[in-house]
Parts: sequence; C-alpha cells; structure tokens
Amino acid sequence: MASDLIVQRPEGLYCPPGDFYIDPWRRVERAVITHAHSDHARTGHGHYLATAVSEGLLRARLGPDIPFQGLAYGETVEHRGVRISLHPAGHVLGSAQVRVEHQGRVWVASGDYRTTPAGAVPDRTCAAFEPVRCDVFITESTFGLPIYRWRSDTELFGQINRWWHDNAETGRASVLTCYSLGKAQRILAGVDASIGPIVCHGAVEPLNRAYRAAGVALPDTLQVSEVTDPTLYRRALVLCPGSALGTPWIRRFGDISDAFASGWMQVRGWRRRGGHDRGFVLSDHADWPGLLSAIGASGAERIIVTHGSIPVLVRYLQEQGLQAEGFETEYGDDPEEGA
Ligand SMILES: [Zn+2]
Ligand SMILES: [Zn+2]
Repeated sequence: MASDLIVQRPEGLYCPPGDFYIDPWRRVERAVITHAHSDHARTGHGHYLATAVSEGLLRARLGPDIPFQGLAYGETVEHRGVRISLHPAGHVLGSAQVRVEHQGRVWVASGDYRTTPAGAVPDRTCAAFEPVRCDVFITESTFGLPIYRWRSDTELFGQINRWWHDNAETGRASVLTCYSLGKAQRILAGVDASIGPIVCHGAVEPLNRAYRAAGVALPDTLQVSEVTDPTLYRRALVLCPGSALGTPWIRRFGDISDAFASGWMQVRGWRRRGGHDRGFVLSDHADWPGLLSAIGASGAERIIVTHGSIPVLVRYLQEQGLQAEGFETEYGDDPEEGA
C-alpha cells in the first residue's frame, strides 16, 4: 500500500513528499493556508501559500509582511514533485480546499467549507463550493450531526430584516453579534440596508475593507467615531463580536435588542444559555446534508474527518461502506469563531 499523502504531525497536517503543512497550528517552514480564520491561519510560518483573493484578509490578520504566495483558484504549483492547487470552499472570502497530487494519487483537504443547497441563491461574498474528485477526502465536521439543516438564506435574512425593522420602529438599536470574519460580511450582503444605518465595530471594519478591496460589494457602514448624531443609533443595525457585549462600547447604543448569529442557534438549549433576545441560525459551515453531498461528490473511497462531530460522522460513513477515520487537530478551538 502506498504511504499516505497527508499525515498528522504535532505541528499539523503534513504532506511528507512535498514537505509542507496544511493549516499548521505550530510554526513551520512551509504552510498552505485554506482560509483566514485564526484557528487555520497562524502567525510565524516561513512561507504562506493561499488563494490570491485571501491575501488582504491574511495580511489584515497576520501582519502586512508575511511571506505570501497567492494562487488563483484552480492554478497549479509543483513543490518537490507534488502538485498543489486550491479550489473554492464557499466558507469565507478566499477559502479553499487544498488538492494535493503525487504519483497519480489525489488527496483533498477541505479546511472549512459550506455547500450551496440545491435551488438556493449562492452567497455573493465568496466563491461557491466546488466538489473536487479525489481518492482521499479530509473533511471538517463542525455540524456533523443529522439535526443540523440550514434554512434558505431568503428565509433567514427575512427574519433578520423583520427583527431589525421592528426594533427600528420602536427606537431600539439592533445589536447582532457575530464572527467578524465572514459572517459579518455575509450579513451585510444579505440584509435590507434601506431599513436604517449600519454600524460596525472596530474588529469588523478592517475585514469589511478587505472584502471591498477584493471586489465584494457591501452596503455602506459606519464606525462609532464617524457618528455625530447619536439618535441615528435608534434605527441602526450594529454588528460586533460577542466580546463587545457588556463593555462601555455597547452602552452608547442605549436601549438595545441583542441577537446572536450562529449555526449553534439551531439547538434550543444553547440559545437559552446564550441569554440573547434572539438567535439566528446562520453558519458558514456545511450542514449535515451538505457534508454528505460534498463527501459523495468527491468520489473518495476513504474519508478522514477533522474538527467537530468526528465519531458520529465516521461511524455513519463506515455504515455506508466507506473507509473512514478521524484526525485529531486543533481546528475549531477559536472561541470567537462562533461557527
Ligand atoms: Zn473557518
Ligand atoms: Zn475551522
């Protein structure tokens, strides 16, 4: 049996013939980065290979001087006889699955991904997920339980718009806490900006700028330093990380309704514990049907499952006659990710 193209090492997922890592969690010489979330893209590597479109986000997060090499989607580079290419993952701007080919064998490491359900409007803040045929598929499983099934974006943004509109009518700011990278921009692109002004926290705005610079159209946003008339907050949608709640920054908005946008909101108990007025089920990961369709479309006979519900998905795939196992990784450990 040929040896594996990607293995686990203490530093991260490692490709032995190519001598590089994929989303390593410890410092390494050569890193291929699937996307800019902090549990996948870390500082201190000697060389970064990622999609060209993710360059602005990676530099915003890791510093302007990282040694960066950008690839277009589908473009191939060869390193020590291993062909590497990056393919859309539909997760956040510039997110990619890594295709690795060596001596006729193809492995794909998905990073994080989100499939577009049949008939749904594609997310316009990033390129839509494209299945890549391979022999071995390394899949995430953040929402790898059958209970996770997302509603359509039309329905979801209808709910958010109604909540915002009703709050604006009663003169309350609508504070929506969400992950700053990816989710905030998906919300911006999806809401009805005619309802009122949109205010973004200082953690969100630099990422909005990187999205706009990459050609993603987003509605106008304000930072609090730009607001001269505080009565404007009474109709505003405010996007901020959860860590901003309970700080002086949030008190300026006066009477607020607060909501949280996350895939975990599908679980009722979790919604109660969150203590928010509202919860919206919004995720940048695949739901259960999405995971299964991506795994099926890869054509892979062997599946390796990373962060999330590893044992459940592994057992399910084995029952379908596939060869499946788990990899221990340090992905998904970012408390801010909010899935
Ligand atoms: Zn991610
Ligand atoms: Zn992740």
